[in-house]
Amino acid sequence: MHVPEHNWHDWRWQFANRLRTEADFAKLMELTESEKEALKSPSFAVAVTPYFASLIQKDNPNCPIRRQAIPLIEESTPDVHGLSDPLAEDAMSPVNNLVHRYPDRVLLIVTETCHMYCRHCTRRRRVGFKEKPISKTDLANALAYIRQNPQIRDVLVSGGDPFTLGDQSLEQIIKAIREIPHVEIIRIGTRAPITNPFRVTARLVRMLRKYHPLWVNVQFNHPLEITPEAANACAMLADAGIPLGNQTVLLRGINDSAAIQKELAHRLVQIRVRPYYLYQCDLAAGIGHFRTPVSLGIEVMEQMLGHTSGFAIPTFVVDAPGGGGKIPILPQYLLCQTPEKIVMRNYEGKIFTYPKPNPK
Ligand SMILES: *Cc1c(COP(=O)(O)O)cnc(C)c1O
Ligand code: SF4
Repeated sequence: MHVPEHNWHDWRWQFANRLRTEADFAKLMELTESEKEALKSPSFAVAVTPYFASLIQKDNPNCPIRRQAIPLIEESTPDVHGLSDPLAEDAMSPVNNLVHRYPDRVLLIVTETCHMYCRHCTRRRRVGFKEKPISKTDLANALAYIRQNPQIRDVLVSGGDPFTLGDQSLEQIIKAIREIPHVEIIRIGTRAPITNPFRVTARLVRMLRKYHPLWVNVQFNHPLEITPEAANACAMLADAGIPLGNQTVLLRGINDSAAIQKELAHRLVQIRVRPYYLYQCDLAAGIGHFRTPVSLGIEVMEQMLGHTSGFAIPTFVVDAPGGGGKIPILPQYLLCQTPEKIVMRNYEGKIFTYPKPNPK
């Protein structure tokens, strides 16, 4: 496929030309039987930008890019732990499109569209079916809710992918949130720098920087996603003074080793993205084949804490089923405590004692 350079670098072209069907993918690579069957009647939306598809190793069915992008039949095989809404987001939604789980911050779903539908998506129950943004009424109600709740100091703009909206629609939303006096920070969650990096344009960045303090969280899952294009998108955001965080999902067969996680973290800090969360894959139905043992996340933390720069280390969290929120899990460093002292071990396994200060 020959694509003129100006098209390839145009995020709208990438979006409009997403690969969606078996025939689309078959033009690029030989599909496995499982992929072919899954693509015939996918249980969750399929769409992959030509850019992201170009990163696929065509002769490797286990390619980490491919496995995030093209479905397997496992997506529709029964999953004993599978839940439709694993984080009870719907139950914690006081008005449409808003999830209020923690007292001081809310999650606002501004669109159900993404540049790519990640096969491991936790919000697959409501993403990708209708590719349309939040309605005017729902947005007005969500903003009214935030206005009426002065304890909300942090608004997380998510989706879907908010960076599928045009600059103007996105600005309308951000501006309206910024006008609420008690909202201290705005965060945007997006995978665009990874799945459609051309979305980060000089114009977008000029718009965003008017609404500081604004933070952006992205989702890199594998070092192969850190391409010159993705690095450039992150550099443009960082140069606009936007702190960047990364949320990785642990995925079986894709990034399930401490070595890959460590390499990813090192590559991320080089492009000024700080590892934020490392997620245990949750219980959304249809993603059971991606789940790793919880012990793997603990092992990753064990091999990072103390072994590398503190700011390169994410927090390993399990998002509690039923809406308990993100619960951090760490290896055990505190070995025992008595009224007089604590006994701990360091990253090398050496034992140390710290005398407790005398109680007053
Ligand atoms: C993850 C999440 C947040 C943000 O949590 P942080 O730990 O502050 O990043 C807020 N609301 C909901 C519903 C969430 O799932
Ligand atoms: S970008 Fe986010 S919301 Fe969209 S499919 Fe991927 S994980 Fe789901």
